[in-house]
Amino acid sequence: MTARILDGKKIRDQIFEELKDEVRLLTAAGVRPGLAAVLVGENPASQLYVKSKIAACEELGMASSLLTPPATVTTLDMLAIVEDLNHDNEVDGILVQLPLPPQVNAKRILEAVDPAKDVDGFHPVNLGRLVSGRPGLVACTPAGCMEILRRHEIEIEGANAVVLGRSDIVGKPMALLLMHANATVTICHSKTRDLPDVVRRADIIVAAMGKAGFVEAGWIKPGAAVIDVGTNRVTDSAEVERLFRNSPERLEKFRAKGNALVGDVHPDAINIAGALTPVPGGVGPMTITMLMSNTVRAARLRRASPGISATRSVTAR
Ligand code: NAP
Repeated sequence: MTARILDGKKIRDQIFEELKDEVRLLTAAGVRPGLAAVLVGENPASQLYVKSKIAACEELGMASSLLTPPATVTTLDMLAIVEDLNHDNEVDGILVQLPLPPQVNAKRILEAVDPAKDVDGFHPVNLGRLVSGRPGLVACTPAGCMEILRRHEIEIEGANAVVLGRSDIVGKPMALLLMHANATVTICHSKTRDLPDVVRRADIIVAAMGKAGFVEAGWIKPGAAVIDVGTNRVTDSAEVERLFRNSPERLEKFRAKGNALVGDVHPDAINIAGALTPVPGGVGPMTITMLMSNTVRAARLRRASPGISATRSVTAR
């Protein structure tokens, strides 16, 4: 069996089309959704992430602004920046790009963001809403994984779902979303015993550990749906030989490039799983997509009158 590929780029394109419609409607009603990004210092990876987020805003017709305090910024300076953005009516979403420099208390900054503008879904108020099944802004990566499952009509209700990883930004919210969608959820972490046996019972596996190719194909129940959140840059040739032992094309590419991007699930899983997100091109594109979706949703909830919204939009969650 070769798994059906759950293409994140295709879903991103679908959702972008829906969001464009909704942005158009909101803008016509005088509510142009806007995202403000705060990028501290000059970390190249962070600069790249923020650049793609701003580009996505432009593609969708949304407003965006970028604040770039220096790497020497203090916690108090950052609190003042967040406070200004909280009070700016044109700003619907506030994105504080992580990591912050060590002298800044990141927790205090994230908790200072108005929960109504917390488009990353990191604020304890939004996490609390998720726990209690109330509407709120949900962390982007797990929300994106749910969109992948739903739009591919993978049955969640009644399924045994195993989430590997329990971080606040991926594993925990993912498990809650699956539970609210009526899956029976098991959360695994570094102290879980007999991991392969637990994974073997899963109809849906979400791997979010940050360990390249850790989940072996032999752990997967034939036909299971596999959502691979891991994004690991691998440079060690012995490791890559293990991962790509049955993928000559990828091995070839690695030899030419010197590194490869792999998920937490061994690529051989494609021969056992029923459906699988590729890395790259699976969950990755969904994170920015859901950030945009959250921003449009935040604008609608905070500023639009109830009649204004595109009916089929992802933001109507
Ligand atoms: P994290 O905060 O480092 O959490 C990793 C989790 O994996 C922890 O709960 C840890 O357990 C668990 N774990 C580690 N080793 C394990 C093992 N041997 N067996 C079982 N569980 C184990 O990572 P994260 O931020 O959630 O990210 C996870 C992965 O997703 C990373 O590769 C990251 O790059 C990727 N990611 C991708 C996107 C995207 O857009 N595609 C977005 C976010 C994250 P303990 O709690 O016991 O330590």
